[in-house]
Amino acid sequence: MKFRFPIVIIDEDFRSENTSGLGIRALAQAIEAEGFEVLGVTSYGDLSQFAQQQSRASAFVLSIDDEEFSAGPEEDAAVTNLRNFIEEVRWKNEDVPIYVYGETKTSRHLPNDILRELHGFIHMFEDTPEFVSKHIIREAKSYLEYIQPPFFKALLDYAEDGSYSWHCPGHSGGVAFLKSPIGQMYHQFYGENMLRADVCNAVEELGQLLDHNGAIGESEKNAARIFNADHCYFVTNGTSTSNKMVWHHTVAPGDVVVVDRNCHKSILHSIIMTGAIPVFLKPTRNHWGIIGPIQHSEFEPEAIKAKIRENPLLADYDADKVQPRILTLTQSTYDGVLYNTEEIKRLLDGYVENLHFDEAWLPHAAFHPFYGQYHAMGRKRGRTKHSVTYATQSVHKLLAGISQASHVLVQDSEETKLDRHLFNEAYLMHTSTSPQYSIIASCDVAAAMMEPPGGTALVEESIVEALDFRRAMRKVEEEYGNDWWFRVWGPEDFRSDGDGMGRTRDWELKKTDADGVETSGDDSWHGFGDMARGFNMLDPIKATIITPGLDIEGHFSEDGIPASIVSKYLAEHGVVVEKTGLYSFFIMFTIGITKGRWNTLLASLQQFKDGYDKNQPLWRCMPEFCEAQPRYEKMGLKDLCQHVHAMYAKYDIARLTTEIYLSDHQPRMTPSDAYAHIARRKTERVAIDDLEGRVTTSLVTPYPPGIPLLIPGEVFNGKIVEYLRFNRDFARECPGFETDIHGLVQEQGEFGETLYFADCVAES
Ligand SMILES: *Cc1c(COP(=O)(O)O)cnc(C)c1O
Repeated sequence: MKFRFPIVIIDEDFRSENTSGLGIRALAQAIEAEGFEVLGVTSYGDLSQFAQQQSRASAFVLSIDDEEFSAGPEEDAAVTNLRNFIEEVRWKNEDVPIYVYGETKTSRHLPNDILRELHGFIHMFEDTPEFVSKHIIREAKSYLEYIQPPFFKALLDYAEDGSYSWHCPGHSGGVAFLKSPIGQMYHQFYGENMLRADVCNAVEELGQLLDHNGAIGESEKNAARIFNADHCYFVTNGTSTSNKMVWHHTVAPGDVVVVDRNCHKSILHSIIMTGAIPVFLKPTRNHWGIIGPIQHSEFEPEAIKAKIRENPLLADYDADKVQPRILTLTQSTYDGVLYNTEEIKRLLDGYVENLHFDEAWLPHAAFHPFYGQYHAMGRKRGRTKHSVTYATQSVHKLLAGISQASHVLVQDSEETKLDRHLFNEAYLMHTSTSPQYSIIASCDVAAAMMEPPGGTALVEESIVEALDFRRAMRKVEEEYGNDWWFRVWGPEDFRSDGDGMGRTRDWELKKTDADGVETSGDDSWHGFGDMARGFNMLDPIKATIITPGLDIEGHFSEDGIPASIVSKYLAEHGVVVEKTGLYSFFIMFTIGITKGRWNTLLASLQQFKDGYDKNQPLWRCMPEFCEAQPRYEKMGLKDLCQHVHAMYAKYDIARLTTEIYLSDHQPRMTPSDAYAHIARRKTERVAIDDLEGRVTTSLVTPYPPGIPLLIPGEVFNGKIVEYLRFNRDFARECPGFETDIHGLVQEQGEFGETLYFADCVAES
């Protein structure tokens, strides 16, 4: 496999006609003669701005001139520059070979802390360029070998072999595609390597995912070490599947389980599949529709026992004797709220047998001290005594994984070790017998990338970018003075030390007044009321941007800007946001962020403001939207905002959407019993006006926010029916802005109107 990893030479004389220039170019030529690429630049500055260039280097040769030294006691600028550059490289990369090139007497000027980081000092004019180049190339090659994690390395070796295959996939390393024009196009688009490396589990030298052996097994071990776990299982079908594996390993029919009410669909699917009986922990919400944390008090075993007593499905259970099988907590809510997992472990160790943190959005936290105890498994943290800890993480969401790359991490307790054979029974139930090897490779590579110090640097960069963005938004706000601007949800006051990093405690959900005294309540920045100290924090890389129109108490102001209009506008201007609520939308600073990418967003938001203030005609600023919804064509941007805002205010939609989630959700039967009615065709499609008191067989999920409102077996209450009616009226009056509710069935009525139904347990 031919990779392009040049040896980078930095010498201010690289293009000069003096002896030093001739010497360094002779070295460059000798390296090139060996078939290695050279990138020659004349200053550190040429390189230090380009992180991607730096990570592509297979070695550095840094030249330093004798004339650059003075006789004085102060350190010379040349040495300082050299040190700064080496520090910058080493911040991310401990392994890449670094050489200094200079005259022999120069080496004596170099302080120890620099010499220590070097692979060698190249004595100008003493060894032949050929000799020196061979040495550098040997080190560069061994470095490139060294950084390959086990599975990816084996895959490279296999693809390089170019052996002919008689096994599946049937496209035979891509050859099948070449036999048709559209196949040719696919082949050219994805490239030969992707198809040649698309192999199957008949290739023994790569190991077996389903058995966790060979190179794949080694990679899983390597990832477990990197993520501070005792076990790691790569999963090639997303954290949706990781969650189901954990559940099928730990939960049986009739078991009591404790679940975050705002969990991901896959957890609800797990409840249905396993036949568990859930008791739910209810998160707080503020009126912006931002989902807050579950209060500390809900995690007390006594509070959980009270819920068990109240649950009509558990009338036959003795709450004092029940040991819940699992707790699943969304660790990092969609809006970025985290829990102190040590505190949860302390509260529930021994009471709940398995503690499962759904860290789909949090695989980065283990790599930076900024996150403290606000993630499931940390370096140098003790284990639980009795309960086993699981974390499931979407490698593809915030790390460098391709779609569906995920893993299950397990940490044994002092008392209980994971039985890997038994766990694998659940693993096999949910894994294809033809796993996608490029996903496995990306799990392997993403883990290796996060190995400190590289991973720490990557996470730090995204935090720093996120904080810079927040500061820039503040600055714009100050410049506008009394005029309106968008706000970023988060603490009013966050500091940063010298290198731009904030302090963890600024991001904890509490409130301090001007004198530094802690207060809390509705007036706090988060709006979740009283928060236990040190229990929750906001992950600053998740930024919720709040649009004007709704205050934190849920009051509508005269004018307002519904967030959906902003995100539609942004999409037409090339900025796609992650999620949109009523008066807020959400962006993330992943490790894929580039410096200042948020500048584009900031500029687009300013353009939006400008268009809004001028009431710019929609056909001009949102042509695609107008094409889809011609009825708004004649309006201006401000008119449209006002139109939708007035509708929201008329129906008091913020209150309604908060209340439906906080309303009483009564279970009539277990989720799996209700779901069984589908398989047995014992369901009835009920019009939404007639839903009150009926039992749903499906998940009912409004988008936004995409959090299930009702789960199979629960009863439609009056509030929810009111909400569904409202939504129908709203869709009629305000097309293009309706809430999409998954789980409802739409049909066309006699007069072309849309009718909505929900599938319920049949009554007869
Ligand atoms: C996205 C998500 C999942 C599912 O992850 P996929 O990798 O998309 O299957 C599970 N839990 C939470 C909290 C999520 O946000």
